[in-house]
Amino acid sequence: MSEILNSGPDNSEWEVSKEITIISPHGFHARPAAILVKTAKKFASDIRLVKDDRRQNAKSLVAVMGFALQHGDTVALEAKGADAKEAIEALIPIIAGDMEDESGQSAAQPAGGAAARDTPPSPVNANTPRLPADKSVFRGITASPGIAAGVAKRVTDSDIPVAENSGLTPANEKQALFDARALAKQDLKEIADKTETASDASHAAIFGAHAELLEDPEMTEYAEKLILNGKSAAFAWKSSYETYAKRFAALNNELFAARAVDLRDVGRRVIRILTGTNEKTAYPENCILIAEELTPSDTASLDEKVLGFCTVKGGATSHIAILARSLGLPAIVGTDESILEIADGSPLILNADEGVLRLNPAPAEIDDLMKKRASMAERRANDVKNAAKPAVTRDGNRIEVAANIGGTRDANQAVSLGCDGVGLLRSEFLFLGRNTAPEEDELAEAYVGIARALGPDKPLVVRTMDIGGDKQIPYIKQDKEDNPFLGVRGLRLSLRALELFKTQIRAILRASKLCKLHIMFPMVSTLDEFREAAALTRGLGREMGVSEVKIGLMIEVPSAAILARHFAEEADFMSLGTNDLTQYTMAADRGNPKLAEIADGLNPAVLAMIKSTVDGARGKNCWVGVCGGIAGDPAAVPVLIGLGVDELSVSVPAIPQIKSRVRELSKGECEKIASSVLELSTAGEVRKYLKQTVS
Ligand code: PEP
Ligand code: MG
Repeated sequence: MSEILNSGPDNSEWEVSKEITIISPHGFHARPAAILVKTAKKFASDIRLVKDDRRQNAKSLVAVMGFALQHGDTVALEAKGADAKEAIEALIPIIAGDMEDESGQSAAQPAGGAAARDTPPSPVNANTPRLPADKSVFRGITASPGIAAGVAKRVTDSDIPVAENSGLTPANEKQALFDARALAKQDLKEIADKTETASDASHAAIFGAHAELLEDPEMTEYAEKLILNGKSAAFAWKSSYETYAKRFAALNNELFAARAVDLRDVGRRVIRILTGTNEKTAYPENCILIAEELTPSDTASLDEKVLGFCTVKGGATSHIAILARSLGLPAIVGTDESILEIADGSPLILNADEGVLRLNPAPAEIDDLMKKRASMAERRANDVKNAAKPAVTRDGNRIEVAANIGGTRDANQAVSLGCDGVGLLRSEFLFLGRNTAPEEDELAEAYVGIARALGPDKPLVVRTMDIGGDKQIPYIKQDKEDNPFLGVRGLRLSLRALELFKTQIRAILRASKLCKLHIMFPMVSTLDEFREAAALTRGLGREMGVSEVKIGLMIEVPSAAILARHFAEEADFMSLGTNDLTQYTMAADRGNPKLAEIADGLNPAVLAMIKSTVDGARGKNCWVGVCGGIAGDPAAVPVLIGLGVDELSVSVPAIPQIKSRVRELSKGECEKIASSVLELSTAGEVRKYLKQTVS
């Protein structure tokens, strides 16, 4: 399908590839497009992406994304220059194999992504209507949890007027644009550094992508043409980014709409520099921002007077949602546009935990909420103070509270917040977002770094690559599947990509001397699969002289939960991946907000799966943990303890809170709670019971 043909139809100097079909069900979106462009730029040749009769510069992100390639579309590549053939060879797999879709961002990212996935499902607001029944209550989607009370501050689209002509020469205007973009790049670098310090590299990367847009050859060419026609630098630049932003916005697709916001954000940054309107917005004390939409830069440069925000546009996967979470600012998105009528200075309560903005609350209501917030903050400070102590129930049963991490930075943070170990290292980030398979040395370096951060006494559970489903990698050929989440995913894929799997296992085993190493396989559905992977791991361990590694599996598929007693005979441990276990038990896509109420891990059917797993391990030398989001849900903790799990592995920030929750409980009482809820018939009943009877 994708080998290279010599000579193109229009010009014999052009190398032309055969047709390449987009196989990803998500189409060819921002992330693979960015990888394509970045890779194309490494070659000296001119490279074009061709669809039907249209040709676009493959080194321009806006041009490539402008094609809006969908699943099933066919394209070709053309290249001219000394390294044309190599360029085409390198680029074909990126298009043909496709890369991870933006919606799978969390999985690809080490820290924030992991935290986002571990957030317990919030059935409260995921499905509620957005239109307010009561005109003072506005509902939205939780972008970042938390509670705030303050006054409204409307943020309007800062449209900066620009003069069409300035009277300067085109050469001067061109230089002015060049200088402004260089300054903008410097600003972005500072914001990226600040964001990296406040959260992590993956969030900071948003601004790296902005810097890439600043240098886009198509946008530059567009602006420079206008400058040659006598327009001012500001006018030319604005026309350029607005043209592309409008094109993206018109595609009627959430991911492209988000890129339109990014383009305008980066575009305005340059305009502010060119027009000297670079000053920051002045915010009143204790304000809650109300906006149609906020840009990533708006969000990253908010000051301490801003307590939270609420927008009409933006989804849970938008960059502002990710940034709000990393900054710890309560935020809701996707609210009704009537919020834009709220007058500046109006008193507001933002309860992002429940996805609600309340206008003109009664003073007593604000008082209550502030008390609740203060006591939550006090509690949090107390939990953090006690985080290093073990989590032992009132009746003397120790529960390990471990961390779900995605990299070394998380590991360091988890240790400082008192983790008893790492219960889940999501290692996909080492495999995604690249065109070639990682080498063993590169993988080993990452595992060794994490093991060192954790130290010799804490268990480290490394999950082998969980690729497939919504996560594709171009260097493993995968056929198109009608139901990728039921297809070749997790361990199923590893066992079909044996060389890569062995490379990963060898790399993990190289960390065995530095920590209490555990290797865990994801998405296991049969004992045969587990046996094959375990035998392979032990064999490699023998070759490398490593014997101290523990081998276990995730319980994510009902078949494994039901037959846990057999797995427990052969595995050292089992960890319940309740995010997937819930998805597969309830037949409800975990990423679909409309099904959030159905995909609730506290449904008695899911609890029965957990019980079957724990019962299956009883009396055998096999511990049971929970590493799905439910482990970090304080309401679920008594049920999980009562069912008999040994370990709870939670997102890093949740460690102190879950440890202190364990200390409040008695295992004996938890057992009674667990048997009562197992008798109930819906998740709603379980939640209600827990709310009413468990303090
Ligand atoms: C799970 O499925 O519960 C789990 C922890 O794995 P992930 O969320 O990475 O699929
Ligand atoms: Mg899973």
